[in-house]
Amino acid sequence: MTRPGANVRRVRDPSVSRYTAGRLSPIRRVADLRRLRDEQFDVLVIGGGVTGAGAALDAASRGLKVGLVEARDLAAGTSSRSSKLIHGGLRYLEQLELHLVHEALTERGLLSTRLAPHLVRPVPILVPLPASAPGARVWHRAYYGLGVAAYDAFAGLFGKGRGMPLHRHLTRDGARHLFPSLRAGAVTGAIRYFDGQVDDARLVVNLARTAASLGAAVATSARVTGFVREAREVVGVRVRDLELPDAPEFEVRARTVVAATGVWSDDMSQMLSDVGVRPGLRVRASKGVHLVVPRSAITGEAGLILRTPTSVLFVIPWGGHWIIGTTDTDWHLDRSHPAASARDISYLLDQVNTVLERPLTTDDIEGVYAGLRPLLSGEADSTSKLSREHAVVEPMLGLLLVAGGKYTTYRVMAADVIDRAVRRLGGIAPESRTDQLPLLGADGFPAAWRDRHDIARRHGVTAGVIEHLLERYGTMTTHLLAMIAADPEMATPLTGAPEYLAAEVAYAALAEGALHMDDVLTRRTRISIETSHRGTESVRHVAAVMGQALGWAPEVREREIEHYLARVEAERQSQKMPDDLTADAARIGVPDVRGFAADRGSSPAVPQSPEDAAISDAAW
Ligand SMILES: Cc1cc2nc3c(=O)[nH]c(=O)nc-3n(C[C@H](O)[C@H](O)[C@H](O)COP(=O)(O)OP(=O)(O)OC[C@H]3O[C@@H](n4cnc5c(N)ncnc54)[C@H](O)[C@@H]3O)c2cc1C
Repeated sequence: MTRPGANVRRVRDPSVSRYTAGRLSPIRRVADLRRLRDEQFDVLVIGGGVTGAGAALDAASRGLKVGLVEARDLAAGTSSRSSKLIHGGLRYLEQLELHLVHEALTERGLLSTRLAPHLVRPVPILVPLPASAPGARVWHRAYYGLGVAAYDAFAGLFGKGRGMPLHRHLTRDGARHLFPSLRAGAVTGAIRYFDGQVDDARLVVNLARTAASLGAAVATSARVTGFVREAREVVGVRVRDLELPDAPEFEVRARTVVAATGVWSDDMSQMLSDVGVRPGLRVRASKGVHLVVPRSAITGEAGLILRTPTSVLFVIPWGGHWIIGTTDTDWHLDRSHPAASARDISYLLDQVNTVLERPLTTDDIEGVYAGLRPLLSGEADSTSKLSREHAVVEPMLGLLLVAGGKYTTYRVMAADVIDRAVRRLGGIAPESRTDQLPLLGADGFPAAWRDRHDIARRHGVTAGVIEHLLERYGTMTTHLLAMIAADPEMATPLTGAPEYLAAEVAYAALAEGALHMDDVLTRRTRISIETSHRGTESVRHVAAVMGQALGWAPEVREREIEHYLARVEAERQSQKMPDDLTADAARIGVPDVRGFAADRGSSPAVPQSPEDAAISDAAW
């Protein structure tokens, strides 16, 4: 019997650095698709969200031979549309779900200190104490104070790796000093605590790249259309390359298939409906909408957490912006492009305006995004491990489904599902070791951050540029600086979004697996939600840089621009619609870029062979 993962070493040439091996370049995509066609994998993961990318990394780091296929782009589903908090969940504390709080705070500490300190950092958040009668005031302070103290205690008060400063009580003046936009009379004081903040889409790309650096084959625009079965066992999947819609589907063979498809989990079960298996779990979608407003619209040095009639509302600083969210409503329409309606937007404005001195209006809004929570909805059978947070089930031999949970605890979900896979494979692989495995760019980050002024001086750029790059790429910043050294044009700020550099667009295409403009403007950068033009003023500059990196013909470049502009317009229209039905109808007029590209011409946007890629693998 072949030992699982026995040929991992054949996949990764030891003379190639881990960084080079983790580069998701166009050439790498061609090679990985070939591997997916030709080889048999120990574990094949479906879904490149945080759960799937985390599972691929967990399996690859145990020495297993791993493939990861994602229908659209990495993090194109829910994992780029969250509140971007790495948190224990004060709400769970209130519900006395203490083990969940402890688990999530442990993950928060690991991510912010060891695994991804370049991507996860502390963000201060105020719990405002509402204005009320003196007796109630004492009660509020005691109640919330105890809660936040317990939160800190669960994170390991004196333990190493807590990763966040401790909480502090503030008087009314103290609260308004830290957050001058708080309406006078709305609060009697506040408690300031810390949670982690992350660029959710970038962490997913980093997970996938780290998995790739350990030998995983990673392909985006690769949609699973069905399972390959032998007798009553799943032995692989059928895949369609969405960049080549006329090409025939191909099979990927795997000893275990892991579906980490979030709100698409029920689709996986339906692919087995002909053999009458019970899915074991069901997932329903709940829509959450966020608004992005400029930092100047609200004056404050910390975020806010507010109670709403149905849930909680966060107002979180995000670079030069604030993120305000979220809603929580059932969603039964298009899952690829959930639409925010005018009703969602006015609900959020009404909620946040209850505590603001100057009320926000729709004119303040720069960006809007909507995501779908994958919520478990029962059907746990005896083979399942169902907690309130996530579940792993095996509806058919050879297929594991993992769903639910939250972004913060992706590593726990990943370890759970790969433990099950390893048991299936005969238990030969070791236990999960991802708690010890810094992601690419994390090693050496504290020293690089400390030396950022020197680095800036050496490279002739401002310290602000280096800070921006370090917080997005960690120590892989050196790759971008090498690109700039080779071609000074790469240091040009992007038109309409000058905090981003041309080098970031080229790097996204050459090393971060971005295939389309949408991938760059929406997920590798956040230009689509951080500018009031929503990227339309940057689109030509981005197309020029990306087109050069990927060797786009003029018609491909125009097609990409046309799609992006149409997408933005459809989103704007949907946000004027009164409800979900009309907003969805306005949004789905423009399909996903992958489908759109296929409809409009035969030139693929993505190189199909190493010779097609305009820029060969660079020295970095
Ligand atoms: C509004 C909102 C706010 C949130 N805020 C937070 C927060 O602050 N902190 C936190 O910890 N959590 C938060 N969450 C929860 C968290 O974002 C999700 O739990 C997490 O992102 C889910 O990741 P996933 O990988 O399971 O799903 P997804 O990210 O949706 O990934 C599933 C992937 O599967 C792919 N796929 C589907 N079908 C196929 C197929 N046939 N073939 C190939 N690929 C396929 C999809 O394209 C998709 O990319 C929030 C969620 C929402 C909606």
